[in-house]
Amino acid sequence: MDYVSTRGTAPPLDFAGVTLAGLAPDGGLYVPREWPRFTPDEIAALAGLPYARLAQRIMQPFVGDSIAPERLLALCETAYGRFAHAAVTPLVQLDERNWLLELFHGPTLAFKDVALQLLGLLFEELLTQGDAPLTIVGATSGDTGSAAIDAVAGRENVEIFMLHPKGRVSDVQRRQMTTVLAPNVHNIAVEGASFDDCQAMVKRMFGDPAVTARLRLSAVNSINWARLMAQVVYYFAAALQLGAPRRKVAFSVPTGNFGDVFAGYVAARMGLPIERLIVATNVNDILHRALTTGDYSAGSVEPTIAPSMDIQVSSNFERLLFDLGGRDGIALAAQMKGFEASRAMQLTNAQREGAAGLFASARAEAGDMAQAMRWASEACGQTIDPHTACGLHAAHAQTDLDPAVPVVTLATAHPAKFRDAVERATGQRPPLPARVGDLFKREERMIELPGDYSAMVDYVTAHAVARS
Ligand SMILES: *Cc1c(COP(=O)(O)O)cnc(C)c1O
Repeated sequence: MDYVSTRGTAPPLDFAGVTLAGLAPDGGLYVPREWPRFTPDEIAALAGLPYARLAQRIMQPFVGDSIAPERLLALCETAYGRFAHAAVTPLVQLDERNWLLELFHGPTLAFKDVALQLLGLLFEELLTQGDAPLTIVGATSGDTGSAAIDAVAGRENVEIFMLHPKGRVSDVQRRQMTTVLAPNVHNIAVEGASFDDCQAMVKRMFGDPAVTARLRLSAVNSINWARLMAQVVYYFAAALQLGAPRRKVAFSVPTGNFGDVFAGYVAARMGLPIERLIVATNVNDILHRALTTGDYSAGSVEPTIAPSMDIQVSSNFERLLFDLGGRDGIALAAQMKGFEASRAMQLTNAQREGAAGLFASARAEAGDMAQAMRWASEACGQTIDPHTACGLHAAHAQTDLDPAVPVVTLATAHPAKFRDAVERATGQRPPLPARVGDLFKREERMIELPGDYSAMVDYVTAHAVARS
């Protein structure tokens, strides 16, 4: 399978190439040249497979010749063997119609483990002998950082520099990053910055010859295609359990960078019968505005109790716009350049109409999140985290959906990861699961830097292993 850039000019790459590169050199994001399609019979035949086998079947068309099927299966078994639940992503029923897809049974308690545990193994697998070491530079609003660090800590030929906005991640999130003392892990707390500021510095490094000439950069943010690919699998897993391909299913997805919900779009393009994809945002609602009015304009980030969704610029939305706009990379490059200059753009009619066929959206205010957490707890006996609460609120807001269609809300984080907010809403403090152990007793290590690009580049280039 070949991959092309959403901005039309970067040379196509194979799966190994896009996994190691992250961002395309023309500033775009890689997408498969075409979507593999499964027929209804082929989908029906996937029912009942163990998760790792299902993952291999779904991902093989994207991986192509880069990894042989038996080897890919072995990598999936290793990655998903680290999950605390045998089903990996179990489905829990809330009421007659609503379901939770629990994606937080990995080592760092958020859905990002599902993709990153595999990505850590893919890096090792795809780097060939004699290759320069890979320097991963990433920005995190909390969960990507901990999941990526867990996935690459101590691995050979890979080092990681992870930027987070100082004071804007939860204590559990921070400690899951800063208590990993492996020498290939570098945590950077950026003073006075938002996630978007951190992300902008990372993106700039990828386009900065002073950095790329010295270091072999790669990405673990959801701009990396391999992450999205791994997330497609649980849409199939959930829908198969609820009767696909005979029965349609809707998904409500707590959304920040549009990665997780784009994976749902990919599942639909592959033939999975999805009735609707509900994009759930908090008050940082650029995606809700874009999908309802066509206005994609970034305001300033407002901190909420769902910090992993406190994002104004959703990188992966570009992938959707590319696919909906006839895959015209040159036109999209111009549209995105305009957005980068003014932080505002209007979707085209083709983009709006294409999105309207599958997507809906809703935004959750603080009171909506609290109410959803209380409803789950009081009516269903389930404790949910604030991100999941945005999703559940958005699921409840779909009053025009056929009542026979089951609605699956993606439970993106374990409630203990955001236990202060959960306790304020429900009066109950969720205990940390045993697998995170003595997190609050461990030593922390990180450095603090000002939100200044040249200081960041100096630090990274001084501490990273250069290309030889
Ligand atoms: C990252 C994250 C999200 C947002 O996912 P995107 O793929 O960026 O849309 C939602 N909830 C939690 C808990 C997360 O960690």
